Amino acid sequence: MTVAPPAPTLDLSDLRAACTGTVAGPGDPRYDELRAPWNASVDQRPAAVVEPAGAQDVSRALLAARAAGLRVAVQGTGHAAQCLGDLSGTLLLRTSALTGVEIDPVARIARANAGALWQDVVPAAAAHGLAPLAGSSPDVGVVGYTLGGGIGYLARRHGLACNHVTAIELVTPDGAVRRADAEHETELFWALRGGSGQFGVVTAVEFRLEPVAELYAGAMFWPWEQSAEVLETWRALTADAPDGLTSMARLLQLPPFPEVPEPLRGRAWVNVQLAFLGDEPAGSQLVAGLRALRPTLDVVGPMPIEGLLRLHGDPEGPTPGLTDHALLDVLPGEALDALLSVAGPGTGSPLVNVELRHLGGALGRRTEDAGALATLDAAYALHTVGIPAGPEAAGAIMERSAALRAALAPYSSERRYLNFAGGPVASRDAFSPADEDRLSRLRAAADPDGLMHCGYRAA
Ligand SMILES: Cc1cc2nc3c(=O)[nH]c(=O)nc-3n(C[C@H](O)[C@H](O)[C@H](O)COP(=O)(O)OP(=O)(O)OC[C@H]3O[C@@H](n4cnc5c(N)ncnc54)[C@H](O)[C@@H]3O)c2cc1C
Repeated sequence: MTVAPPAPTLDLSDLRAACTGTVAGPGDPRYDELRAPWNASVDQRPAAVVEPAGAQDVSRALLAARAAGLRVAVQGTGHAAQCLGDLSGTLLLRTSALTGVEIDPVARIARANAGALWQDVVPAAAAHGLAPLAGSSPDVGVVGYTLGGGIGYLARRHGLACNHVTAIELVTPDGAVRRADAEHETELFWALRGGSGQFGVVTAVEFRLEPVAELYAGAMFWPWEQSAEVLETWRALTADAPDGLTSMARLLQLPPFPEVPEPLRGRAWVNVQLAFLGDEPAGSQLVAGLRALRPTLDVVGPMPIEGLLRLHGDPEGPTPGLTDHALLDVLPGEALDALLSVAGPGTGSPLVNVELRHLGGALGRRTEDAGALATLDAAYALHTVGIPAGPEAAGAIMERSAALRAALAPYSSERRYLNFAGGPVASRDAFSPADEDRLSRLRAAADPDGLMHCGYRAA
């Protein structure tokens, strides 16, 4: 009879002695704080958490996890914790202590360490009249957002944030510290831009900033009984919008929380948000049709770049959320009817946000130097959010999101976008077959033991 050798375990005191940053296991003082993700509906319980103080700590943690037979997951903030699933048997690396942002206004390049948030980059770049391709939320992590793609208010003009990246510093699963850019580690550089956390732990990212001379942007709100006419008018606006206009339409049922400003608090709205890279006369001409619908609140006008940081009104700090999404190839009037019949006024929908983002423009154009997620091949993205008050509410949210996806299935593509996913995404659903093939070969070479655990499941 052969006796199985004892399973290796992670020796936390050894790891603690080797690392400058914090190492916390269950029962340790900082374990609960460090394991708690931004998405408070996820109760993740990793085998241990390391908060690295630098690349050397990351390297030591990776090697220790491998020796102990653990997987490694990385989080900046935990905004996408719902994509990771069970973390038992996993060493979690929280990069929150790796803060720091540098702006080079002459080269128009920003460098963000792995713990940086968009609220650290946007004002620093805006001071020089420059803008990153940030998303809608100030406290989303720059690295997690960018590695997954990244669509923000400048997306139709400038494309996915991952394709503005010029260099990435990381520690690969073998513990080596590397720098990937257009001249070095070129396959890795390609794979990381869209491939998210599959290829190692990123410690810093560098990316191009865009000059913004004029910005006409903001939001309009109407009572949600006007949803049908507002959605239809927005749809008409998107039908022949210039690339400089990125917009979204949302059905909002805002909770009565004190952080929701008056007069929006506790009421249901139909809302359009937009950013136009152009002057006021051209911008106001574009929104004339929407204005004719006499919004209750109209805060669209010339705006400084920093204004985009909190335009979406996303909650800051830990918040429970169940999300879902679909990518739509087309949005005919019947699709809006279908959406409203499932999630519009009078349907009893528990979803606090049902959002349609207009894609296309630069998001659909492949450039020579793009990464693994070269384009987002869809005309619109549907993104839904529910805030679960308990298990019953969570079930109702999931059911309604699924019903909405089913109602929009005739207009949807099979493709998935990791950043908007409500759970793990099969890699083959996010990339073209040729790109997935290239990614899986790189994955096998870079991480043969499957050490890295992220939101993508290998196809
Ligand atoms: C309120 C809100 C608003 C959002 N708005 C937008 C938006 O406008 N546009 C958009 O495209 N997305 C948006 N998202 C989605 C968001 O971009 C993703 O959830 C993204 O993954 C968050 O990155 P993070 O680092 O904050 O989250 P985390 O959960 O910490 O990280 C997400 C994943 O990124 C990878 N990762 C993070 N850090 C590292 C690292 N250092 N090295 C290697 N891998 C790493 C890991 O695989 C990790 O699982 C939003 C999400 C929320 C909750």
